[in-house]
Amino acid sequence: MQRHEVVVVGAGLAGQRAALAAVQAGRDVAIVTKLHPLRSHSGAAQGGINAAVGKEDSVETHIYDTVKGSDYLGDQDAIEFFCREAGPTVVEMEHFGTIFSRAPDGSLARRAFGGAGFPRTIYAADRTGLALLQGLWERLGTEEFTLYEEWDLTELVVRDGRVQGLIAFDRKSGAFEGIAAPSVVIATGPFGRIYGRTTNAHSCTGDGVAAAYDAGAFLKDMEFVQFHPTALLESGILITEGARGEGGILKNALGERFMSRYAPHVLELASRDVVSRAIVTEVAEGRGFPGPYGAYVHLELMHLGREKIESRLQEIVDFSRHFAGIDPVTQPIPVYPGQHYMMGGVGTNIRGETNLPGLYAAGEAACVSIHGANRLGGNSLLETLVFGKQAGTAAAEHAQSAPRAELSAADVEAAQAPLRAWSSRPSGEDPSALRTELQQTMEKYVGIYRTEADLLEGLQRVRALRARFEQIRVVDQSKVYNLNLTDALETGHMLELAEVIVVGAYARTESRGAHSRTDYPKRDDEHWMKHTMAKKTAEGPNLSYTPVTYTRWEPKERVY
Ligand SMILES: Cc1cc2nc3c(=O)[nH]c(=O)nc-3n(C[C@H](O)[C@H](O)[C@H](O)COP(=O)(O)OP(=O)(O)OC[C@H]3O[C@@H](n4cnc5c(N)ncnc54)[C@H](O)[C@@H]3O)c2cc1C
Repeated sequence: MQRHEVVVVGAGLAGQRAALAAVQAGRDVAIVTKLHPLRSHSGAAQGGINAAVGKEDSVETHIYDTVKGSDYLGDQDAIEFFCREAGPTVVEMEHFGTIFSRAPDGSLARRAFGGAGFPRTIYAADRTGLALLQGLWERLGTEEFTLYEEWDLTELVVRDGRVQGLIAFDRKSGAFEGIAAPSVVIATGPFGRIYGRTTNAHSCTGDGVAAAYDAGAFLKDMEFVQFHPTALLESGILITEGARGEGGILKNALGERFMSRYAPHVLELASRDVVSRAIVTEVAEGRGFPGPYGAYVHLELMHLGREKIESRLQEIVDFSRHFAGIDPVTQPIPVYPGQHYMMGGVGTNIRGETNLPGLYAAGEAACVSIHGANRLGGNSLLETLVFGKQAGTAAAEHAQSAPRAELSAADVEAAQAPLRAWSSRPSGEDPSALRTELQQTMEKYVGIYRTEADLLEGLQRVRALRARFEQIRVVDQSKVYNLNLTDALETGHMLELAEVIVVGAYARTESRGAHSRTDYPKRDDEHWMKHTMAKKTAEGPNLSYTPVTYTRWEPKERVY
């Protein structure tokens, strides 16, 4: 049995920032991570991080853009705090060693991003996430903490109304271990792999969110799923919004720059929900290019010239060449929307606190909420750092005064019981087949446009898959790197979270941000200006609602 004061689960930007804050507060800190820290999905972020710096831009505009982008579902007190922290956070990251791209005068270079009233996305070419992750990892490396690498959180232990620690599974040895701790921070990142076409890494399966839900935490606004307008056709690999920020344009098969019909003022730089719906509509109405992987539209960069494309969008050039067989310097890139980001997650306040004493969450696994119904590009890297620090600080404070955490060998034993059944069955369901069916179901019935009939069908299918999951069989009996077992654990988490997404989407009879119901096409502020809170019960997710916090911005119609 291990013991620490603060355990952070996840070593992406949110987890590392939380750990740094807790170490700096003088606590004994451990990080549990299923991947090497630098392999976290944060490292895949391309486009950049938002901060209103310099004379021409203002924090006020950043706040307003974020409130509007959220379709008025974001909590305005949290958004104000978040935007004010942006400048100091970016400067701090630079001091930690992140090298950002520069303007000719030596100041931080900034590019335009969707839904932003000013070009305020600071970047490191199109590898911003990796540059941030490396800078933070080097800084964290100067402090003392324990790293449990390639350990998978399987469950949280909550007793006497507070967190006592967690159970994790060591991929290298196959052993289950208990870690007692009064404070646990969930920073396990995205869960986009619930969908088939996603820009998310294979590891993005929502393990920590599912563990928090199992332990009694509220999940917030889970029905809001962001689709990125420009995912590469066959693979779903992201083509950053920075490509449009640098001047890239979208065209349909008739050669029309169709965004003029949907967002006449800002065209391709409308927010993501708007651009994604526009592409889907163009294709549905027969103006897409046909292809073996489905119809698509073109993203054209050619007019920007070789120099700009190859210096500012190096990864985009590589991805297009290697994964689509085209050269964006001379040819258009075939794109179609793909799942990209989860606005929902473990419900927290500004300090990262959840409804369970001792449990904290930050980063994409959490929902504060600053993104509301639709996240603006560049706000999420910032969120990981701003709220990672908050959660780490609060977790450290709690650990200092909390009673000793009690975890026993019986807890570790209990966590393994269901898994033993999976391995000992002579026959049963194949977890990877269930995962593929789940992805197809979510893609088809819980996508960009939603209807009551589709959501109901989706819910029935997800519930049927959950029932089949009860009968899974893990064929591989080995202890060392048993990917069959990790696959099964992850599939179970995704099925659980998918049910919460569909139930929330079915209940919300309006269209707001990324949640677009063709049977309820209007935003309905009178009935739905509220957050969905889902709690686990034996009968499935139980929904309740909490009010949105307003400060200064009255809801208006959202046009770009
Ligand atoms: C392709 C792509 C590009 C993006 N580009 C941008 C961008 O330009 N700007 C922007 O603002 N946002 C961008 N985003 C979003 C942003 O990158 C993410 O929301 C953010 O980086 C998530 O950080 P995180 O720390 O919450 O999670 P992650 O970086 O995903 O880290 C999660 C961590 O949790 C660990 N973990 C997961 N499950 C377990 C478990 N069971 N046990 C132990 N550890 C576990 C993993 O090992 C990992 O270390 C992009 C996202 C993608 C997918």
